Amino acid sequence: MHVNDHHRYDLLVVGSANADLVIGVERRPAPGETVLGSDLAVHPGGKGGNQAVAAARLGAVTALLARVGDDAHGRLLLESQRAAGVDTEGVLVGGAPTGVALITVDPSGDNSIVVSPGANGRLTPEDIRAARPLFEAARVVSVQLEIPLETVAEVAGVMSRDTRLVLNPSPPAPLPDHVLAACDPLVVNEHEARYILGEAAGATPGEWARALLKLGPRSVVVTLGAAGALVADGRTGDVVSVSSPRVEAVDTTGAGDAFTAALAWRLGLGEQLAEAAAFAVRVGAVAVTRQGAQESFPSAEEVSVL
Ligand code: ADP
Repeated sequence: MHVNDHHRYDLLVVGSANADLVIGVERRPAPGETVLGSDLAVHPGGKGGNQAVAAARLGAVTALLARVGDDAHGRLLLESQRAAGVDTEGVLVGGAPTGVALITVDPSGDNSIVVSPGANGRLTPEDIRAARPLFEAARVVSVQLEIPLETVAEVAGVMSRDTRLVLNPSPPAPLPDHVLAACDPLVVNEHEARYILGEAAGATPGEWARALLKLGPRSVVVTLGAAGALVADGRTGDVVSVSSPRVEAVDTTGAGDAFTAALAWRLGLGEQLAEAAAFAVRVGAVAVTRQGAQESFPSAEEVSVL
């Protein structure tokens, strides 16, 4: 299934790359207190890094445009992207320490997280303009909001006419109209849909999808956890529900990133929205049956046997 055109990449992911530093604790320290925890585990993360690895593992020819620090975490992230088969030519190095998420996990499995965006916060609109050839070489561009909003706005600005933009507004923030108008689709979970719609949010996912379409994106996808996803096409007005295979979920970390990467890749291959979402929910379903984020992402073969 390969489309014969001038695009070198199936997917360009523009976004964050973080080192997730995880320590298990019996309980969290009170202010001024010190507690001892488990051995440190370091995992590659960040929504951009996650999406790029998810797509590459499925077989998509994938490039990442991101910024990491000139430090050990940055080298680790570059190495793990390359090991997954991601083209890291567009990963910029330096300007600030690599983004880090400091995560403590208690015995009930609850996380407390402090994020230092670091180099992710230094990915600038100028960096986007300088990477224009990458945009021209990509069939689909996927972006999230763990990088500065003005950088995301520049991504919408440099898109060429025959390239499709997929945006997951996470963590949610107010989006300029021209960014919303460029999305095809805007991919939101329930929390992001409610944030964007505010008081105007209806009671059902179908109402959210229709209300989101009115804000200007060409299409909308609402992810619904175990219930799968809802897709809404602004061209036809069709709203279609896509159910997920039933699985035993053990860890949903990164499931949304795997879903979005899979969706973006398949849209780039020319699939319709509902067809691409039907593949993406299967990718998300496999990801939740395994621990971790990038470690949990399946190959295309693992999706096909689900
Ligand atoms: P997020 O992870 O961003 O909060 P969701 O919870 O909607 O978003 O999950 C994203 C996708 O991951 C879903 O559309 C679905 O494909 C998959 N998924 C998440 N939780 C489950 C689950 N319990 N069972 C099967 N698939 C799931």
